Amino acid sequence: MKKLMAAVLAGAMVLSFGMTAMAEDDNVLVMATNAEFPPYEFREGDEIVGIDAEVAGLIADKLGMELQIDDMAFDSVLAAVQSGKADIAMAGITVTEERKMSVNFTDTYTKATQMIIVAEDSEIQGPDDLEGKTIGVQLGTTGDIYVDDVPDASVERYNKGFEAVQALLQGKVDAVVIDGEPAKVFVSQNEGIKLLDEAFTEEEYAIAIAKDNDELLEKVNTALNELKDNGEFQKVVDKYISSDDAEEAETEAASEAETEAVTE
Ligand code: GLN
Repeated sequence: MKKLMAAVLAGAMVLSFGMTAMAEDDNVLVMATNAEFPPYEFREGDEIVGIDAEVAGLIADKLGMELQIDDMAFDSVLAAVQSGKADIAMAGITVTEERKMSVNFTDTYTKATQMIIVAEDSEIQGPDDLEGKTIGVQLGTTGDIYVDDVPDASVERYNKGFEAVQALLQGKVDAVVIDGEPAKVFVSQNEGIKLLDEAFTEEEYAIAIAKDNDELLEKVNTALNELKDNGEFQKVVDKYISSDDAEEAETEAASEAETEAVTE
């Protein structure tokens, strides 16, 4: 009986060691993200695609690892790397002094902005006009943090950036403060709203890694900088953000308007 118990116990121990090894598989790079943030991370069918997702895939390749993407709420991604549930967090994450106290950041990889979306016919023309207004933001984002400084504004927090945009479409908020690139995507997909020219803030994105994981930080930084230097990073960006297209469309619209004026 004793022997049997020992055998069972030994078996259980082997099993649990096996499981620990699986969770910390050296060959899998686990990325925490929130796949609601086009063009950086979003769902296309069953797949999570976007600039961050693809760049993380290239980094994993360079590290000889396989990428696994874990989709969660944005306000959980930093906690996921802190607790070791994920190796990296890549979610259009803005570097802030406060966040630097809980995680390490790689070199930055993108200049970003917080922009303001309003209804087409809104009287709000810039950041100063937000005073006293109802502003929609995504919970836990820098937009959420920075609108705190707007005098007399009331802030409505949503789990997804798009939910804030929906609230604007329904007239529940006067404006949405959100990162510039997703703002452009949401405005292009919906009638009746527009993006203001003047940015609310300027910021920069980086990849977050656990404080004690200096080895991974160095490896990811090296890989990231190689991708920047050899042009592969820019190739991914160009696939998702085509600044030329935007300019072309504007020039086209302008010349169309001219033609119309001449015809009249
Ligand atoms: N850049 C913003 C932040 O870091 C928002 C990121 C996001 O919503 N995925 O807070």
